[in-house]
Amino acid sequence: CIEYIFYFESEQESTEMRELGIGLIGTGFMGKAHALAFGALKAVMGDTPTPRLELLCDTPLKQANKMANQFGFARATDDWKAVVNDPRVDVVSITTPNHLHLEMALAAIAAGKHVYCEKPLSLTVAQAQEMADAAVKSGVKTMIGYSYIKNPAFTHAQRLIADGVIGDIVHFRGWVDEDYQADPDLPWTWRAKISEAGLGALGDLGCHLVSMAYGIAGPIDSLIADMQTIHKTRPLMDGSGQAEVENEDTASALIRFSNGAHGSLSTSRSAWGRKNRLAWEVHGTKGMICFDQERMNELQVYRHTNEAGLQGFQTILTGPEHPPYADFCPAAGHQLGFNDLKIIEAAAFLRDIAGDAAAHPDFTDALEFEKVIHAIADSARSGVRVSI
Ligand code: NAD
Repeated sequence: CIEYIFYFESEQESTEMRELGIGLIGTGFMGKAHALAFGALKAVMGDTPTPRLELLCDTPLKQANKMANQFGFARATDDWKAVVNDPRVDVVSITTPNHLHLEMALAAIAAGKHVYCEKPLSLTVAQAQEMADAAVKSGVKTMIGYSYIKNPAFTHAQRLIADGVIGDIVHFRGWVDEDYQADPDLPWTWRAKISEAGLGALGDLGCHLVSMAYGIAGPIDSLIADMQTIHKTRPLMDGSGQAEVENEDTASALIRFSNGAHGSLSTSRSAWGRKNRLAWEVHGTKGMICFDQERMNELQVYRHTNEAGLQGFQTILTGPEHPPYADFCPAAGHQLGFNDLKIIEAAAFLRDIAGDAAAHPDFTDALEFEKVIHAIADSARSGVRVSI
């Protein structure tokens, strides 16, 4: 009943053992997550190529040197072109702000490097298409950091659906809310500028929800949407005045999947109290499954099989029977964290580079997810249903 069970397949393969030189661009939130993943994945997974932490880039050089020392990289530079052209670098991790992904990824692909880039691919569908086309043409492997679809709880939900536990999917509803832009006094940053961030809540958060909706119920065919900017200006960091917030704080869409199921997606970056409520529920003809990233080690499953007095939800806590949880810990219920998802993602990518399997989600998969967030913005602007 589901065609898109690709997220957990590549992790199953045994791969040739070899070293891969890693070049990391950016050392902020995601740069650190990538560095931690490359530093730990061999110890956690065992059966992977060995990442060699070769060259790290940030600006200024003093910061690059400091972070190379902290993360254990052999060398540092403040020139990202030196990373993509370095002969000892096989894999380039791009963890810079969104507007830099296009140029960096295209240069890395042209230099024959495998590319592990943070989401979203870029600012527009046209740019994302250019990146996906370049990757396909060159034959290098690519991975986009959609972290949450690597969660053993998520892949277990996919398996339950594939096994028919909740029957045919009829309805999917998802939310992804945070409150990092809820405070009107928060200073203006690049995230509010279309030429640097692209979309707002949709590009930052909504695309994650789409990646999960896609993995649970398949491709989205059409949608009608609305969006709003709650805080239209923000104070400049230096106190010299206010600057315009150019992109959306919230967006909501009514969606139709290719398989005929309906649903809704909603996102806000200004939802007080929500820290990472990437949550969804999928309804089938025999039951339902609920997930919430704020309780990322749990699934709630309802199966309409018990007699009337015993009906209710079952809480499944992830454990060794939900791969690759056992690689981290032999005991159920001890819980994985966000950075562990990056270890799973980075390990899968290195195995896919060393083996024959295509990596997922690659630039082509990400393009499909990101067409949806741009369609939501297009529909919100035009007020009409948009086909994807
Ligand atoms: P950040 O601001 O914390 O880090 C960005 C880093 O890039 C900084 O170290 C900065 O100095 C560096 N940088 C900027 N320009 C550079 C240049 N020209 N050369 C070298 N380094 C440069 O940002 P972040 O939160 O880590 O976000 C980065 C990317 O990761 C964004 O695309 C964002 O959407 C994505 N992201 C993904 C997730 C996820 O869950 N997968 C979470 C957060 C952010």
